[in-house]
Amino acid sequence: MTVDLSGKVALVTGGARGIGFSTGSLLYEAGADVGLSDLQGAPEAAAQLTGKGKAFGVGGDVSDFKQVEETVAAVEEALGPIDILVNNAGITRDRLLMRMSEDDFDLVLKVNLKGVFNCTKHVARGMMKRRSGRIVNISSVVGIRGNAGQANYSASKAGVIGFTKSMARELGSRGVLVNAVAPGFVDTVLTKNLPDDVRKALQEQIPLRRLGKPEDIANAVLFLASDLASYITGQVVVVDGGMAM
Ligand code: NAD
Repeated sequence: MTVDLSGKVALVTGGARGIGFSTGSLLYEAGADVGLSDLQGAPEAAAQLTGKGKAFGVGGDVSDFKQVEETVAAVEEALGPIDILVNNAGITRDRLLMRMSEDDFDLVLKVNLKGVFNCTKHVARGMMKRRSGRIVNISSVVGIRGNAGQANYSASKAGVIGFTKSMARELGSRGVLVNAVAPGFVDTVLTKNLPDDVRKALQEQIPLRRLGKPEDIANAVLFLASDLASYITGQVVVVDGGMAM
């Protein structure tokens, strides 16, 4: 059985690169029309999705409530009502507590957690009316286990899990399923600055002995967005090569 998303419209935030672009590409390959939103590079990324349905790229900041309203309106005008929302946009500002500024804390919470609220708020209304929809939020294993030097990031990603479960409870009776994916360490721009020795030490803690690839995460999102997952809501799917068990 192959996953068929033809006739569906997906919006992936932070979709211009990394896990977001990989997810957008996979949903597109599965037949969905795909909107990619990002601070930068979204139209260029969408232009790479060819040969199947429609793809649309739009600039916008997920942390800005008004901009998200405009982003959602632009995607729905270009592609139609959104059936699948992937809240993927996220940032890090890693520092130990004593060096972490108020701005470091506020910005990470504003993008990673309030961004998820903003996008869900603007997309869920239509999903509820249509009594159908899938929302997949990208959290992190750090949101489950914590991590020294990432108090802001881990708090935001733990918040995403709480938000996911609350939405699953609120929206389940309206046919909207809400889940989270918690990646471990994935090879993207976000993790490229790890020194070689740290990277090597990390790999040794991972039973599968490698960092994740963006496609590893995209595969889990595709599953949760598909009919195969129609009785799954409020869950956190950990995709980390066994690192955090
Ligand atoms: P990335 O930095 O490669 O991509 C993130 C994208 O989000 C970028 O294109 C960026 O421009 C966009 N973005 C940032 N701030 C934004 C904003 N305010 N509005 C709109 N777009 C914005 O990172 P990635 O590794 O692909 O991470 C994607 C998601 O996965 C993030 O939520 C991240 O926290 C999560 N994650 C990543 C890892 C990892 O190891 N890479 C692990 C766990 C979770």
